[in-house]
Amino acid sequence: MPSIRPTDTDMLGLIDVQPCFMPGGALAIAGGDEVVPAINRLLAGPFVQVFATQDWHPPGHSSFASSHPGRAPFDSIAMPYGPQTLWPDHAIQRSAEAELHPGLDQRRIELIIRKGFRPAIDSYSAFFENDRTTATGLDGWLRARGIRRLFLAGLATDYCVAFSAEDAARLGYHVCVIEDACRGIGLPLPEGGDTIAAAKARLAAAGVRFITAADFVI
Ligand SMILES: [Zn+2]
Repeated sequence: MPSIRPTDTDMLGLIDVQPCFMPGGALAIAGGDEVVPAINRLLAGPFVQVFATQDWHPPGHSSFASSHPGRAPFDSIAMPYGPQTLWPDHAIQRSAEAELHPGLDQRRIELIIRKGFRPAIDSYSAFFENDRTTATGLDGWLRARGIRRLFLAGLATDYCVAFSAEDAARLGYHVCVIEDACRGIGLPLPEGGDTIAAAKARLAAAGVRFITAADFVI
């Protein structure tokens, strides 16, 4: 039975709904484009308060494998702030594939947080860059708005959605991930399993709930 009815202390966060993360993009996620209609249905229905994030890298960004001679995409390297997965060049500022997807209904998006624009540091989370201390300012904005519960959707389940959800839970928000409005990358892990399963376990332990669009009262 649908049981969730968003109130004025709830907000929907749309994470990196950008063509670079969809089929045909530089860092394509299988089914990544399917989040657009799923999110548009949420935007046409239960949610009136919405923010979005946008991955937004300068050319030659330190998270790109091409910036590290001898390295390949999906290698992991040690950065001053900790381990960093290397990615294909993606989300280059001002490129078409770095825009929010043109099919996304942006009318209710009040705030767009751009992240990953500092050349030497990557940023998965909507709240903090990958050093875990450089704040984006989103927390202050949400608190000023009286928001207590966050619903997250977008790309990718196991990276930017997961890091955002984990930070939000740590900051004291109630957090729900709308699973059918997300898609994951799913990199294999040396210890077995993949990054999607690992992220879900980590988030569940942090108190994050996994829900679907069918849980909303429309
Ligand atoms: Zn990126």
